[in-house]
Amino acid sequence: MDKDPDSVARTQSPPKEHWRAQVRGGFRNPAALLSHLGLSSARTDENRHFPLRIPQAFVERMRANDPDDPLLLQVLPDPGETESNSGFSLDPVGDLESRSAPAILHKYRGRALIMTTGACAVHCRYCFRQHFPYSGQTVTPRRWATALNYLRAQDDIDEVIFSGGDPLMLSTHQLRQLTDDLATLPAIRRLRIHTRMPVVLPDRVTPRLLDWLTDLRLPMVIVIHANHAQEFDAAVDQALDQLRSCGAHLLNQAVLMRRINDNLDDLKQLMERGFSAGVLPYYLHQLDRVAGSARFEVTDDRARELINGLRENLPGYLVPRLVREERDQPYKLPVL
Ligand SMILES: *Cc1c(COP(=O)(O)O)cnc(C)c1O
Ligand code: SF4
Repeated sequence: MDKDPDSVARTQSPPKEHWRAQVRGGFRNPAALLSHLGLSSARTDENRHFPLRIPQAFVERMRANDPDDPLLLQVLPDPGETESNSGFSLDPVGDLESRSAPAILHKYRGRALIMTTGACAVHCRYCFRQHFPYSGQTVTPRRWATALNYLRAQDDIDEVIFSGGDPLMLSTHQLRQLTDDLATLPAIRRLRIHTRMPVVLPDRVTPRLLDWLTDLRLPMVIVIHANHAQEFDAAVDQALDQLRSCGAHLLNQAVLMRRINDNLDDLKQLMERGFSAGVLPYYLHQLDRVAGSARFEVTDDRARELINGLRENLPGYLVPRLVREERDQPYKLPVL
């Protein structure tokens, strides 16, 4: 069959990357979000420090007319969150003490976490880094040069973790530059990417991004972040499938949260839905006690009850590790 010359031209020029426009065009205003969902917007709580931010693609997975929608509750600012609660702090896990070099957190042996950017496509109200002073800490060319020297000098680091913020907020070109530089460090044997982007904005998984991952010589682990089965849809499935076909192992980390996923059915469905998208569970985190997030906390007793429920109902490989991160600990502590 003759090829349509137009379609050839189209495949030769790289497709335009629409995801940035989607980040910019997302909801920024609680009243607009609520009215879009058919909800009363009597409460329009702004949090100037950490404002509402959410792409349309994620909003489309929320149920209209449901003030208890588990996706909405993750992103909607609450009047209580600017008040202080005892035990909740700005830096709950000691990130600032773990800085080892500019843009690097080296808290656990063998693994170095790179703060690639402070930006995310979504603002999750429970985010433990919502108060993190990113401006002085993320990758810039000068800091990256120093960070590389640090990595080069530590022969115990064999895994680099791109985190942030969300590393997939960087351009693919920037990501490729980072991994080109890492390729000069012989001790690095694995790359891990912590990102919520394939879930909140699956269009970020572009052909260009897939080319970059395919070209990488390092074994890759991509840890996505979904807290509820309803966060998956056909576009997310496709994005995850494409990431997997680049050779990445896919894991999911979730945060256990009151009213969002603190019941057995929701957790079970999350693990099963993830599996059908090619993702195995990794951590189920007890909430990091970051200022502003108290409403999400689940007691350890309830958390244990839920995890035991999962053990009774799912194969072992679909049961996440229930953990809590604590400062000055050599790993994320199992909640036993
Ligand atoms: C969570 C975290 C890691 C990764 O820990 P794993 O248990 O390997 O998933 C690495 N560095 C820092 C600073 C972290 O917070
Ligand atoms: S995507 Fe991750 S880093 Fe970004 S706001 Fe949500 S929890 Fe925080």
